[in-house]
Amino acid sequence: MLIGFGEGKTKTSPFPYKTWDKDFLPESLYNKLEQQINQLDPTTTICPAFDGFRDLWHMPQYKQWLQEQLGWPPDVPALFEVKVVLQKAGDTVEPNRNLKARSPKAFGSIQINFGDSTPTDLYNDDQRKVDQIEFKRNTAFCFLSNQFSWHGVDTIQNDRRSLVIEVSTLDKAELKPVKNPRTYNNFRDHTMIDFCITTYCQSKCPTCPRTNERDPNFGLANFISLQHMPFSVWHNVADKVDWSNKTIQFCGEHGDPMMHPDIEKFILAGVEMAWRVQVNTNGGIRSAKWYDEIYEKAENKDYGDLIFVFAIDGLTQETNDKYRIGVDFDRAWQNFLTCARKYRRLTQWDFLVFEHNWHELEDVIKTANELDVQVDIKINRGDYGLLRSAEGKKHVSKVLGVEL
Ligand code: SF4
Repeated sequence: MLIGFGEGKTKTSPFPYKTWDKDFLPESLYNKLEQQINQLDPTTTICPAFDGFRDLWHMPQYKQWLQEQLGWPPDVPALFEVKVVLQKAGDTVEPNRNLKARSPKAFGSIQINFGDSTPTDLYNDDQRKVDQIEFKRNTAFCFLSNQFSWHGVDTIQNDRRSLVIEVSTLDKAELKPVKNPRTYNNFRDHTMIDFCITTYCQSKCPTCPRTNERDPNFGLANFISLQHMPFSVWHNVADKVDWSNKTIQFCGEHGDPMMHPDIEKFILAGVEMAWRVQVNTNGGIRSAKWYDEIYEKAENKDYGDLIFVFAIDGLTQETNDKYRIGVDFDRAWQNFLTCARKYRRLTQWDFLVFEHNWHELEDVIKTANELDVQVDIKINRGDYGLLRSAEGKKHVSKVLGVEL
């Protein structure tokens, strides 16, 4: 049985969308949500359960209803996410689009409005303002999967909030950010923000910024002082960012995030804030059990996805150790396999091609295919381990279909 959803109107210009101009939700439910949403700390964007409101969107009948509204292709599995958008008086939303262009298969959202009445402006593909959607009490609108959907909001007069239910393809990796030529290079356009939370690493990758390349033993670069960022320092910063369209990345140019003793705390706080947390690691720290459990813990937060990217540049201790010096290959491989088998969609393998490992390339691709995980193969361009031999270049060219 469905709740609410007063009568919707379908529009086709400047792109297909629907509006519900009054009584989208039953009054009592709307009032309850309004009360809760108004109590939220205005500096945060979080996704609380709201008396089970979010859970409704995991029920088949609600999913089906929304899929019908969005014209969702029946053969494409869909992921439903509910989030709260808090906007403050004085904010503007630059024209942006977030639908079909971000995901070739399908993407759509429905937004339920609370608070301020500044309308949403609709733009045509030439970026001219051509229409508006009123932002009134207990109204909603949804954008359908579509080639363009430029929209923005002029200066907001009073604080306002929305509940947004986003529907996307299961594989979020398919979502491609779209850059608005007028806002490109603004902070809000960055879709991933990397935090370097530690300068510790058990490895000595020769061209890593933390490594002194001139030292034959690959010691620490002079400017590195070994330290872990306190969780509270990071949290104070991260908590002020609107993560609704961004990924929190723990990669860091100067240390492996998995070395941080509080990495679990960072990850779990991250998945409560952002729709995606990505951890890049050499893989050789912590155990398969730890990886197994952290996924469960992140899942229990019921919001953002947790993705691990393993930088493993060889299929044996010998080849991996040529660049990932000091990494325990067996441990890294077990950790990677644990993730790949448990959540292949949330596991990625980064493989750098060097002179010392090009002969493994086909096996790397075969293994990734068997595991059904994404492998990102890059050719090292630095001096160390540079692919120099004619035989190696010919092989890599052939396998990857690139000119070298
Ligand atoms: S594993 Fe990462 S942080 Fe560690 S030395 Fe290598 S590149 Fe640097």
